[in-house]
Amino acid sequence: MPPITADIAIIGAGVSGLASAYYLAKAGLDVVVVDKGLAGGEASGRNGGMIGERTDDPPVIPIAVESINLWKTLEQELGYPTEFTHQGRIQVAVTEEEMNDLFTERDVASRQGITMELIDPEHVQDLIPGISPRVLGGAFFPNGGHANPQRSVQAFAWAFQDLGGRLYQNTAVTGFKLGNGRVAAVETTAGDIAADMVISAAGPQTAILAEMVGVHVPVAPARVEILATAPIEPLFDIALVGNGLYGRQAVRGNLLFGGGPHEWADVDLTSDPNKTNTPLIINIGRRLAEILPAVADVPMLRTWAGIVEQAPDYIPIIDFLPDPSNYLVVTASAHGFGICPATGKAVSELILNGESSIDISAFTLSRFSDIKSDWRQQRGWVPAA
Ligand SMILES: Cc1cc2nc3c(=O)[nH]c(=O)nc-3n(C[C@H](O)[C@H](O)[C@H](O)COP(=O)(O)OP(=O)(O)OC[C@H]3O[C@@H](n4cnc5c(N)ncnc54)[C@H](O)[C@@H]3O)c2cc1C
Repeated sequence: MPPITADIAIIGAGVSGLASAYYLAKAGLDVVVVDKGLAGGEASGRNGGMIGERTDDPPVIPIAVESINLWKTLEQELGYPTEFTHQGRIQVAVTEEEMNDLFTERDVASRQGITMELIDPEHVQDLIPGISPRVLGGAFFPNGGHANPQRSVQAFAWAFQDLGGRLYQNTAVTGFKLGNGRVAAVETTAGDIAADMVISAAGPQTAILAEMVGVHVPVAPARVEILATAPIEPLFDIALVGNGLYGRQAVRGNLLFGGGPHEWADVDLTSDPNKTNTPLIINIGRRLAEILPAVADVPMLRTWAGIVEQAPDYIPIIDFLPDPSNYLVVTASAHGFGICPATGKAVSELILNGESSIDISAFTLSRFSDIKSDWRQQRGWVPAA
């Protein structure tokens, strides 16, 4: 069978791959996206939908800020709904220690130029009716919100295809043909794809694919769980973090909440990672009932898990491999949904102009040049026995 040809071959139809595909196709390039499953079938369609500036990873702030700007007009840009709401994010404290952390966070936010206001329990009650009286206060970040992950993936996928982009689902990448320091073709279960450039946006499979071209890219998979309650009347539209949880109320009324701890996992090249739930979901349900006692009797409707991609320093990677030189690694280190519009913009600018207008200078691969191949074992980032 003759190879499929394209300017750009993108591995992975999650938000990172599809947002990159959309902006590249919009710039006039011929782009093919392949995914071993369905578009958004992995973390991109399974996540909490939280969007916003965070104080914990300063190098991610510029791309997060640019992303929020893009989210504001993304529905018009793509022509499809994302259910983005921009009512802000609140982080609540239920212990004195957490309250002290919020004071520290206020100082950090101020240094980083992030708008954040400490609010008292009454103000928290106004924003989240029914929140536990145990809440001692909150940090309100006005520049945040949430969106529907599945809708957003669809929006990027449809808008990309409207521009003539080709999306091959249920098509796994199984290898690469190399020559002259470049990828000559991407081998897939549907045949070869010959492209000038390859973008690996394969989430937790990033490291496995990179090994196939002889490069160690440190990304570890971790399993995360989420629950959805039955729909209830509109209660709040702000994104909520607290009691070890993060979540939101969806447009249709369901409460969607997830929480740690992350569980280190292994994935392989083609199969679906294990996504059955564990007792953790009961724990998440308990924590939700504690923080929102008003909804303690609302039944759980669905639960699911997903696999996040974690770099050792929790910061995304957007960088070319030195060899093969036409292989761009794009992986979000668990920030991926919130930052996806700006990821797509940054990737397209990098390919078209050789640099991005968004500060992604911390997202290089060279920061890991000294990392040992057994870094996961050294840190204990390996599946429990
Ligand atoms: C439960 C959960 C909650 C989360 N909550 C949030 C949140 O609230 N806010 C936030 O910003 N982020 C959140 N995240 C993280 C976020 O979802 C991810 O960072 C983001 O979706 C990563 O997108 P991606 O496109 O890079 O990777 P993925 O969504 O993992 O997509 C990678 C794609 O590559 C495909 N692929 C892999 N290997 C191959 C192969 N060999 N051949 C072909 N295709 C292949 C996969 O099938 C997959 O579709 C959460 C994640 C989870 C799991």
